[in-house]
Amino acid sequence: MTDVPTVSQVDSAVYTVPTDTPEADGTLSWDSTTLVLATVRCGEVEGLGYTYAPAAAARVIDDLLAPVVTGSPASDVPRLNEGMQRAVRNAGLPGLAAQAIAAVDIALWDCKARLLGLPLVRLLGAARDDVPVYGSGGFTTYDEQRQDRQLRGWVEEDGIPRVKIKIGESWGRREERDLRRVAQARASIGETAELYVDANGGYSAKQAVRVAAALAEKNVTWFEEPVSSDHLSALAAIRNQITADVAAGEYGYTLPYFAHMLAAGAVDCLQADVTRCGGITVWLRAAALAQGHGLQISGHCAPHAHAHVAAAVPNLRHLEWFHDHVRLEHLLFDGTLDPAGGSVTPGGDGTSGLGLRLAAERAQRFRVA
Ligand SMILES: [Mg+2]
Repeated sequence: MTDVPTVSQVDSAVYTVPTDTPEADGTLSWDSTTLVLATVRCGEVEGLGYTYAPAAAARVIDDLLAPVVTGSPASDVPRLNEGMQRAVRNAGLPGLAAQAIAAVDIALWDCKARLLGLPLVRLLGAARDDVPVYGSGGFTTYDEQRQDRQLRGWVEEDGIPRVKIKIGESWGRREERDLRRVAQARASIGETAELYVDANGGYSAKQAVRVAAALAEKNVTWFEEPVSSDHLSALAAIRNQITADVAAGEYGYTLPYFAHMLAAGAVDCLQADVTRCGGITVWLRAAALAQGHGLQISGHCAPHAHAHVAAAVPNLRHLEWFHDHVRLEHLLFDGTLDPAGGSVTPGGDGTSGLGLRLAAERAQRFRVA
């Protein structure tokens, strides 16, 4: 057997970037975003991965995951992913630990593809060349002008024919403003672009059904987390009563989470976040679960972490071109993708791995650990 290159070093770094304006959805507000970076070294080659998580995820990488990965064959990503999952048993896999694992898993796939000199999508095997994206933002903190500018930017300037705004403001207590903002969004993007909404679990079940009836008049075709994704039977009941597709899954940290959600008939389209669910290794399996249920999968946020794996599954609907994360990824990385026309083409320029390089000089002033 030929020598298999082994991982010589695993490192973490943390970057916190203020938002360009205060941001909020139905159930949370924030004014900065933290990205935890994992780097995996194998000889002269380095792979990178990341998650959007508190800085504590970096400690999980350093203390619990690096010892599992260091010294192991870089090619055996499923084995290393399994080893990392077992190593965090007593820390608790769902949440922070799964996010830390995701960052390292993505870095391992990036490293392996670079070792082979292939774009990651070629290593995984492409199911498609183009990955559709949808513009995502429309925060409840935006005034009418800002929302209009953002939505028109995606539709008219970038040619992205799908956009999403946040509703469910103040845990569903601003229903009138929600509907007014949806009407404004429809006016901004015209009649043909797809209009999506995300309530981030802000409504009660009956309220969500009533709101959905009003949304249908504006041809809203995607209703994300009308109620909390913890309540699968409520999601399933809403799904049966409304015309828009019900979507959820962004808080999936383990494969059984997605299996339970699908078995409950809770969604029309499964969402999964590669930076939360345990990385590319687990995202591929979540996509397979969805396909087994006759459903599509949509990548949640972190578009550059998803692009290659999204191109590797046949049942992809789209990726979320999330304003906050797009801005960070452009700031911290070189080699980012162009969504012009409504899709990205990962690996299109032949660059190895994810095609991203840390823009060390630009990133340095945001580094906090
Ligand atoms: Mg969401």
